Amino acid sequence: MTASLSFTTESLGNRVKSRLERLPQVNIFDWQDAHRIVCGDITVGSADEVVDALVSSGLRIEAFNFDLLGSDGKWDRPDPTLIAAELLGDQFVFLDKGNTFDPPLPEPCLGMVAPTHPIHIAKKPIGHACCAKWDIIFSEPICRFLRDHSSGTLGPVMSKGHVVENWHRFFVNERLSVLAGPGVKVGNCAACHVSGRWNAGVWLGRAPKGLAFCQEELGISHGNLEHPYILSVKVAAELARRFHSGFGLQPIVNVDSLIGQKMVQLLERINGMPILTQS
Ligand SMILES: [Zn+2]
Repeated sequence: MTASLSFTTESLGNRVKSRLERLPQVNIFDWQDAHRIVCGDITVGSADEVVDALVSSGLRIEAFNFDLLGSDGKWDRPDPTLIAAELLGDQFVFLDKGNTFDPPLPEPCLGMVAPTHPIHIAKKPIGHACCAKWDIIFSEPICRFLRDHSSGTLGPVMSKGHVVENWHRFFVNERLSVLAGPGVKVGNCAACHVSGRWNAGVWLGRAPKGLAFCQEELGISHGNLEHPYILSVKVAAELARRFHSGFGLQPIVNVDSLIGQKMVQLLERINGMPILTQS
C-alpha cells in the first residue's frame, strides 16, 4: 500500500512547470485554468521537492489531498498498516425545514442538528448509512449490528412531519482518541469560512486498547464539532462481510508507519502554507 499527494494550483507558468516535470514520479495535468500536480508514492517520490518549488514560487494553491493506493475494499484481507476505519454514509439526503442546529453555521453549511432534536430530512434514504448534511443516519439493521459492538442511544429521523421507519440517529456512549492531531489539515471551510480540522484524504491514528466501535474524541470539520464514527479493523471486516454495500469505510493508517510519518512531516509544511482549504 502506498500514498500519493496532489495539489491544485493556479496556472504554473512554463518555468515552474518544467522544473516540476523533471522530478521523478511527478505528473502535471491541465485543470481548467489551473494545474493539478500529482506526486506519486510519497515515501520514495518527490513530494518534498514539489513543496519546495511551490513555496519558493509563491503560486496560489487552491487545494491539496493525499490518496491511499491499494487499499480499496480489501477489508477481508486488510493491509497491516491500517489500524481502524471511519464509518461513512454511502448516499446523501437533503435536510428538510424545521431542523434545530447547535450551534448554527453560516449559509450554506447550516450546522449539525442538535442531539436533543429529531433530524428532519427531505426523503427516505436508501442503503445502511446515509449523510444528512454533516450528520449520518443509520438503518435499523446496521444499528442492531453497531449495538452488538457498543452501547449508544438512538434518535428519531423525520420526513414531512412523520417518523421515518427503520432509520435512526446513533449516539455512541464511548468516545476514544484514535485520530492523530498532526494527521489533519487545518483551515477554513471554502463555503462558509468557519475554521476547523479536515480530512487530508487519508486519516492517521493509533488504535486504543479495546477499540470496537466508538465516536472519535478529536473533533473535526466546522469548529471541530463533528466526532466521526470509528470501527476497529476486525469490526469493519465483519460489517463489510455482513452488509456488502450501502455504507462507506474510510481506512485509518497507522501514524507510526512509514506512510504515516511521511504524511505528518509533509502536513507540517503544507499546513503552514497559505492554502484555500476545502472541506
Ligand atoms: Zn462551511
